[in-house]
Amino acid sequence: MTVQAPRLVVDIKAVEENAARVVQKCALAGITVSGVTKGMCALPEIASALVSGGCTELADSRMKNISALRRMGTGLPLLLLRVPMLSELPLVAAEADCTLVSEPEAVRALQRECEFLVNSHEVIVMIDLGDLREGIWMGQTEEMARVLAQSHRIRCRGVGVNFGCYGGTLPTTSKLDQLISIGKELERELGYPLETFSGGATSSLLLLEQNAVPKGINNLRIGEAILLGSDATSMRAIPWLRRDTMRLEAEIVELKRKPSVPVGPAGADAFGNIPEFEDRGERLRAIAAIGRQDVRIEGLTPENSGIIILGGSSDHMILDVEEAGGGLAVGSTVAFFPDYGAMLALSTSPYVSLEVV
Ligand SMILES: *Cc1c(COP(=O)(O)O)cnc(C)c1O
Repeated sequence: MTVQAPRLVVDIKAVEENAARVVQKCALAGITVSGVTKGMCALPEIASALVSGGCTELADSRMKNISALRRMGTGLPLLLLRVPMLSELPLVAAEADCTLVSEPEAVRALQRECEFLVNSHEVIVMIDLGDLREGIWMGQTEEMARVLAQSHRIRCRGVGVNFGCYGGTLPTTSKLDQLISIGKELERELGYPLETFSGGATSSLLLLEQNAVPKGINNLRIGEAILLGSDATSMRAIPWLRRDTMRLEAEIVELKRKPSVPVGPAGADAFGNIPEFEDRGERLRAIAAIGRQDVRIEGLTPENSGIIILGGSSDHMILDVEEAGGGLAVGSTVAFFPDYGAMLALSTSPYVSLEVV
């Protein structure tokens, strides 16, 4: 059954195929794949596709999504991808299997939760190698090692690093070598071997293609590559993955010829920007019923290359369809491919239906 537009239509076979290809390519280098669900709000069908694609773990940044994955019962361990809020640790201890940490205080508090629940928990210590998001700064492991050694219900599963998330730093062989040696240092301080050396996310796949991931890195946490076949950090389409995994369909509510420059004195638009217009004469324009409340409009690519996205307001997207080749009508739909930011917003908007085919 087709659901009401606007809808995000997911080709689940394409996602599963991407998962399998990523898992296979990583396996050749001795690397396991943690499948990251946060880009699609941990949609059950996405989780299933990651499981059948061969991921060894499911990962998400939000406890709400981790709890949903727990209730789904996928059979895979669950990793919380964001260093936790102290206030959510009771839930983390109860529902996740492993969490990323960068604060000794979080480890202490997690230990207390595990004592209370009489269970145990794994952590991956994040190391900041320059991206300036989460992680203990390059080599400064002593305090973390001391607290971990005192926290008997917490097992340190390994070390991990992020690239290209905030600072836009790219993964390199030497940075991953650095992660391995910091991990070895932590092993000496803890007195037991670490199981996981997690060398980043989708952006690390380029290094893998170049055979430049050092031996010793044995895990990657992959979302974007599997969900969209793209790598935003390197600004590339990944040539060995499918990019036709999902499309947004929005319905046309107005189709008229209008001038391309507004008529009358100009003020700011609804978002406080002063818009600029190129005078292209009178053009055929369409309004699609979707807006900035639902999607990052700049992150959309029209499926029909004759369509130009002119802009949008909260609930309307304005399109130049002069060269769309006809076939459009009020009530028909236009399709777009989302980038990561657009996908994230679409899958979170209560106004957008998700349809899995
Ligand atoms: C989102 C996230 C990932 C996955 O990133 P992709 O670029 O989508 O592969 C991996 N690790 C952490 C910590 C994340 O927050």
